[in-house]
Amino acid sequence: MSTETLVFNPDPGLYVLLLSLESPSLIRVGALGEYFLTAGLYAYIGSAKGPGGLRARLKRHLRPGKEKKIHWHIDYLLQHTSVQTIFYTRDLSQSECKWASAVTRLGTCFPPRFGASDCSCPGHLIQIVDVEVNRLYSLLTASGWERIFI
Ligand SMILES: [Zn+2]
Repeated sequence: MSTETLVFNPDPGLYVLLLSLESPSLIRVGALGEYFLTAGLYAYIGSAKGPGGLRARLKRHLRPGKEKKIHWHIDYLLQHTSVQTIFYTRDLSQSECKWASAVTRLGTCFPPRFGASDCSCPGHLIQIVDVEVNRLYSLLTASGWERIFI
């Protein structure tokens, strides 16, 4: 699917990016330092509460890395990975940190403190082994999250 055809909601919300890393990579993540990431799937949990809501944030995440300034930890990772699936919800009754904690139960939080500069979470990036991906889908869709395959 072309990202041009994706219609995103302009409301504020939460999102999960399911990212695919093709090959093991040494990745610099800003002030966190360099981390060796194994190939596979990673889930990143974030929130879009600023102007333009989910639409602005998700379109930014899908734009190729060289077209934008590095701002968040996720920007470093997006230079090495492809977005496979996006989940989003407009339900803000639970924080992105609560969801990060829930998703961590399906995988391994790594690197520590990734995407968690403004909170006290272990981190907002979770490596998910392939067999757990269906549990991720179930967890989110059972709570009313929408899913977009990229
Ligand atoms: Zn957090």
